Amino acid sequence: MDRVLDLAIIGSGPSALTAGIYAARSELSVKIFERKAYGGSLTEIAYIANFPGFDGEGMELANGLKSQAETAGVEFDYGECTEIAPAVDIDLSEKAFALTIDGERVLARSIIIATGSEPRKMDLDTDKPISYCALCDAPLYKDKKILVIGGGNSAVGESLMLAEYASELTLINRSPLRAEKTLISQLKSLSNTKIEENVLDFTKYLDSTDGIFVFIGKKPASDFFATSTSNFSGEKLTDDDGYILTDADNMTKIPGIFAAGDVRQGSIKQAITAASDGAVAAISVKNYLTSVKK
Ligand code: NDP
Repeated sequence: MDRVLDLAIIGSGPSALTAGIYAARSELSVKIFERKAYGGSLTEIAYIANFPGFDGEGMELANGLKSQAETAGVEFDYGECTEIAPAVDIDLSEKAFALTIDGERVLARSIIIATGSEPRKMDLDTDKPISYCALCDAPLYKDKKILVIGGGNSAVGESLMLAEYASELTLINRSPLRAEKTLISQLKSLSNTKIEENVLDFTKYLDSTDGIFVFIGKKPASDFFATSTSNFSGEKLTDDDGYILTDADNMTKIPGIFAAGDVRQGSIKQAITAASDGAVAAISVKNYLTSVKK
């Protein structure tokens, strides 16, 4: 018979990796599936200064968490989950789920969905290059003009890194900035940056730049779960914005399936709260598996 994991974790950001560490240390068989890069959103954050006990590049935190998870016994594999369904066609003594990952079937007694969020895209009328990842594309803009759109922590935080490359960086937002004051002060102190708030017409800014970086928030990566609804009770599993609904134990409407991190309704989208969310989900998984074995 096919192997049945105790826990399959989808995604590998801070919530997933923390969940993996907790679950593996509780002697569960755990495998993490990631479609892009181990570390998830951490790999695209230039600098993290508000994760207690850590002060450095996002990639460094991602590597540290991954290596801790490996030491605890977590297995890793690349692959994209496109569907979850009850595993009803196999002879199992306990309930299990069938995940479709890169077209292959994976069986697990429980699941944590920790798929995070994706950048919200912007439809801009321009032929200039548009990027959603500062860390990936910043080196292309050495001594060039950069336009950043957005006014949250991502826009201002990533601008600090982009400004190290650009000859000139202009940050524009449709309303007053909402980023932390410390970040805004840091950006204002740089000699090659300019901030413009309450900009409603972007045209002149688009015309006079070499490239555009857009940071206007994120949307949850939950489409595959929402479309799996019909495989279960038919009950709505996400809110209208696509965030997964959970109870206080981070369990979704389907017993045995949990969610953690940015993809969960109510998340405040910080690396530290994602990590905490992952710990809650893993402890709940352990309790769930113990209760269904009784
Ligand atoms: P936010 O939702 O905080 O900010 C989005 C920004 O984009 C706002 O200024 C918003 O303007 C603007 N915006 C949204 N939609 C549009 C649109 N259609 N057209 C033009 N402008 C638009 O997103 P962030 O990605 O910055 O942050 C998400 C979360 O992650 C936050 O909770 C943030 O604190 C957190 N974060 C934390 C970091 C850290 O701790 N180091 C780093 C980065 C993010 P308006 O105000 O008018 O809506």
